[in-house]
Amino acid sequence: MLKVLSLGAGVQSTALLLMSIRGELERLDAAIFADTGWEPAAVYRHLEWLQTQATLARIPVYRVRAGDLRADALLSQVRGRKSDGVRWASMPLYVLGDDGATGMINRQCTSEYKVRPIERKIRELLGLRRGQHWPKDVVVDQFFGISADETRRVRVPDGCWKRHRYPFVFERPMRRDQIASWLRAHYPDRDVPRSACLGCPFHSDDEWRSIRDNPVEWSDVIAFDRAIRHSGGMRGQVFLHRSCRPLDEVDLRSSDERQGQLRLWQNECLGMCGT
Ligand code: SF4
Repeated sequence: MLKVLSLGAGVQSTALLLMSIRGELERLDAAIFADTGWEPAAVYRHLEWLQTQATLARIPVYRVRAGDLRADALLSQVRGRKSDGVRWASMPLYVLGDDGATGMINRQCTSEYKVRPIERKIRELLGLRRGQHWPKDVVVDQFFGISADETRRVRVPDGCWKRHRYPFVFERPMRRDQIASWLRAHYPDRDVPRSACLGCPFHSDDEWRSIRDNPVEWSDVIAFDRAIRHSGGMRGQVFLHRSCRPLDEVDLRSSDERQGQLRLWQNECLGMCGT
């Protein structure tokens, strides 16, 4: 049975990998990080450290990539949907219609840039040839760093070749704050960043504010937000922020909790984010 971690490199999956390395959870055969190409620089730095820890314990960490989500999204936006064979990255962007109605574009980025690349890597690790059917029996345990306070993210697998494993929900139940405490206790010098695409529309205002604290990354998302406004094939205007206003004009001063806003997701985009 191949034991593989879907590594988002945020708090939970980092702790899961480190616990496996330390023998506090069962040993993993590999961890796979699906790179959208648009994570904060702090996540890539943290991933390098994590990769070193895992390599010392002889657990390989693979990085897989289906493309550059930011660049793909902009190409699609500029040229129009499905034109020139350009892939439509389909981020969950907010749309303000000409009639004032608001909506959200269907999200396909998680599946396209995270779920499928990880599955392709698992196929490779299993030695499956191109076009070869998945086995009929369970051959993979796929681990996710979902914590006990977010059980709504637990999913039944869609193929009989794998089992989903959620150690922090079932085997060693831990809430996110308990996992963070474990990390602080064992790795006091390590600050584990939040993992998500810089321009993910699911960001809360708190998260947008922390991106704003980094001028380079803030300029990057502001430029993206401006570039998508009048996207090809879309009626109305497109925005990154749920208020359907330009991101650099949104008042981000008050906390989401004070504004009574829900955090649309709290943790990592592991293939089931924002649900
Ligand atoms: S973090 Fe957001 S933008 Fe990135 S793949 Fe997940 S849902 Fe899409």
